[in-house]
Amino acid sequence: MKPVVHVVGAGLAGLAAALAVARSGHAVHLYEAAPQAGGRCRSFHDPVLDRVIDNGSHLLLGVNRVALDYLKASGGLDFVHALPPRIHFAHVGNGHTWTASPTRLPVSAWEVLRAVWPGGGTVAQRLGSCRGFADFWQPLCLAIMNTAPAAADARLFARVLRAILLGGRAGFRGYAFPHGLSAALIDPALARLGELGAGIHFGQRLTGISQQWLTFAERAVSLGKNDRVILALPPWALESLLPDNGNFDTETITNVHFRLPHAHTLSHPLGLIGGMGQWLFVRGDVASVTISAAQTPPDAAILWREIAPVLDLHLPLPPHRVVQEKRATLRHTPSSSRRRPGPTTDRDGVFLAGDWLASPWPCTMESAISSGLAAARLALGRDDLRLS
Ligand SMILES: Cc1cc2nc3c(=O)[nH]c(=O)nc-3n(C[C@H](O)[C@H](O)[C@H](O)COP(=O)(O)OP(=O)(O)OC[C@H]3O[C@@H](n4cnc5c(N)ncnc54)[C@H](O)[C@@H]3O)c2cc1C
Repeated sequence: MKPVVHVVGAGLAGLAAALAVARSGHAVHLYEAAPQAGGRCRSFHDPVLDRVIDNGSHLLLGVNRVALDYLKASGGLDFVHALPPRIHFAHVGNGHTWTASPTRLPVSAWEVLRAVWPGGGTVAQRLGSCRGFADFWQPLCLAIMNTAPAAADARLFARVLRAILLGGRAGFRGYAFPHGLSAALIDPALARLGELGAGIHFGQRLTGISQQWLTFAERAVSLGKNDRVILALPPWALESLLPDNGNFDTETITNVHFRLPHAHTLSHPLGLIGGMGQWLFVRGDVASVTISAAQTPPDAAILWREIAPVLDLHLPLPPHRVVQEKRATLRHTPSSSRRRPGPTTDRDGVFLAGDWLASPWPCTMESAISSGLAAARLALGRDDLRLS
């Protein structure tokens, strides 16, 4: 009898796993504790701003090939905007602006070589004495690793930089989400799963797992002999279900969303240097400022004073909403990189997925989606499963 695959957790990892299984013609059920899918990557209507906002601005890169395959397979690619292969920066203190591209980085070739070198240690140990540290390497490290350079794993950072730089113009290109994260990454995948006959069950929090049963808060699902289970859950959700899967430190990402008096034309993410905010994204009449690895909640008034001149808006603090994702990603230290586990467990037929598993990427959409595909391949014993 063909196995039924039960995927628990409808974040990107679970959605990708379910989509890969469903596309192969196998039966799949997807269970999610929350009333909606998306996990750490989702949109919602905010009553203060009266706008649909994201839990945090996300950027995909051209080198994130598995994530792009997922967008193609689900139909979400139509809701994505490909940006030119450049990163724009502005200094909030002196108004100076500059641009980085794969062929024109604002640092010396020697610093780039040092950054991509495959050795160990932290990013600060490796790059802290470089001239371009404060204005380039530090913001890049926070954006990529969501970990301060003093703690961030230099080996993982170097691996990501190599992938981006070797990817050329196509790899350096960013992909933004002008209609929101859910419109591109979540809703199309759910619709495609529905078309393929997948069972989708919201409000189902898994509380226990045995050889015969998946136990949810309000019901139990019996497992057939050939059935497979993919736990697409973050490590903190797994602790009570499968102990010994590691205790990981995490980092916060905070976004402050400002409702502008009218739509603004800034069409690309802007790296902010010299202030508290780190990245500025504008979608219509909402400007969103990201702060990675933030230790304390930001002061919205200070952030507004930083971005108002950049947007050429000389107004008092507008309506705003602070969204703090306390466990946005792992803290990517050299030791956490060594401890990220693989997708197999000590239970037959039970596999793991999630952005935190061993990966050439830090916790990102790419690592989440790749892990879902890898778990689906293992669950069905099919190395040839693809999302493209
Ligand atoms: C603010 C912010 C900004 C980010 N920016 C970027 C970016 O620019 N680029 C990028 O690539 N990545 C970015 N990321 C990272 C990216 O969002 C995550 O790596 C990815 O969404 C993780 O997906 P996941 O499926 O592994 O985990 P999750 O999204 O955490 O999904 C796990 C799901 O499991 C559910 N669940 C938990 N416990 C149970 C249970 N017991 N039973 C049933 N369901 C359960 C949860 O509700 C959740 O829906 C960002 C993350 C945040 C928070």
